[in-house]
Amino acid sequence: GYRSRSAYKLQQLDETADLFTDRSTVIDLGAAPGGWLQVAAERAPEGRVVGVDRQRIEAIDGVETRRGDLTDEDVRADLKADIGEADVVLSDMAPNMSGEYDLDHARSVHLARQALDVAREVLTPGGDLAVKVFDGRDLDGLEADIEEAFEYVRTVRPDASRDESSELYLVGKGRMTAPIEVGD
Ligand code: SAM
Repeated sequence: GYRSRSAYKLQQLDETADLFTDRSTVIDLGAAPGGWLQVAAERAPEGRVVGVDRQRIEAIDGVETRRGDLTDEDVRADLKADIGEADVVLSDMAPNMSGEYDLDHARSVHLARQALDVAREVLTPGGDLAVKVFDGRDLDGLEADIEEAFEYVRTVRPDASRDESSELYLVGKGRMTAPIEVGD
């Protein structure tokens, strides 16, 4: 079994948007407790799978785990320095919920933008980004910024997300340039 129900969302995202190959290097942001990492390790069996979270992730066979807050620029720079390049960046990061819709939305967009920064720094040409965000007024701006860096963007609402009606995933398909240098 998987560590979290979220695992089924990643399976659906992959079935919809074709994220993995056998040899993909995958970076999963906000990866604890590790359901997505289990799915990624199954779907990229000859690849490299790296999970990052501010909380501890219990060991998973064939998966590298790191602890850090991805809003911290140094944490992102260390990740880039250690991993180099990747084929897939995933983010299921979510803020601690305040219950105030606009605030939770804004915080989730902020986290999604950290994931976009990582994607811009590590993704090889043709690479993909799949990132969770709560729907709201800043969604269009985020989507436009992802669109600039990828061939196209898809919005996916996995069936497993249906009870959390504001949650969706933006999938940027086909990174259009080589990784940018950190600090550019
Ligand atoms: N995809 C995971 C799975 O399948 O097990 C579930 C991820 S859970 C919905 C969201 C995660 O995002 C939490 O573990 C949380 O600690 C992490 N997170 C939120 N903000 C973060 C940040 N700034 N840096 C790192 N991780 C963060």
